Amino acid sequence: MKVPIGISARHTHLTKEHLEILFGRDYCLKILKKLSQPGEYASLETIGVKGPKGKIEKIRVLGPIRKYTQIEISKTDAYKLGLTPPVRESGDIVGSSPITLVGPKGQIELSEGCIIASRHIHITPDEVKKLGLENQTKVCVLIDGVKGGIIHNVTLKVSENYQFELHLDTDDGNAFLINQGDMGTIIKY
Ligand SMILES: [Zn+2]
Repeated sequence: MKVPIGISARHTHLTKEHLEILFGRDYCLKILKKLSQPGEYASLETIGVKGPKGKIEKIRVLGPIRKYTQIEISKTDAYKLGLTPPVRESGDIVGSSPITLVGPKGQIELSEGCIIASRHIHITPDEVKKLGLENQTKVCVLIDGVKGGIIHNVTLKVSENYQFELHLDTDDGNAFLINQGDMGTIIKY
C-alpha cells in the first residue's frame, strides 16, 4: 500500500469577491502550473498576508476560485505571523484564525480563514475498495529514511476525480526529510 507524497507549500484559495478586492474588478487568475488534482492549478498571482507579529509575502493563489477564502500555512509560518491557526480539513474555516490579506489593489481583514491543513490522502472510491480501506476515515502512513517515522491522523478524502496522493505541509515534509514524489506506506488503524 504505497502512496506517492506531495508537499503543499503555503497557499491561499479566494472567493471571486475577495479576488476582485485584492486584484481589481473582473480580475481572472492566470494559470502558472497545473496541480496533480484535476482542475486545480497554481496561478501566477501571489498575495501577502499579515498577522499581529509579522508578514509573509508572495503566498501563491491556487485556482479556480472557491466559495470560501482560505489561507493554508504551516506552524512555522504561524509563529512568524503571531497566529495560532487550528488544524482543519479544507473548507472547515469557522472559528479559524483571523488574518489580513494584501493584494496589489486592496487589502482584506478576515475575521477567520487561516488554517493549518490536516494531513490527507486524495483517493478514488475504487482505490478505497482495492486497498481495503472501506471502514477507515483515517489512516497512518509510514515514512522510511534517516528521519522516518509514522504519521498519524491522515484523513481519506474520497472522490471519483481524485489523483491518489498524500498531501503534507512543509513542516511535516521537512521533519521527515521528504521530497516531492517520495513514497509512503499506508497503515490501517
Ligand atoms: Zn490535497
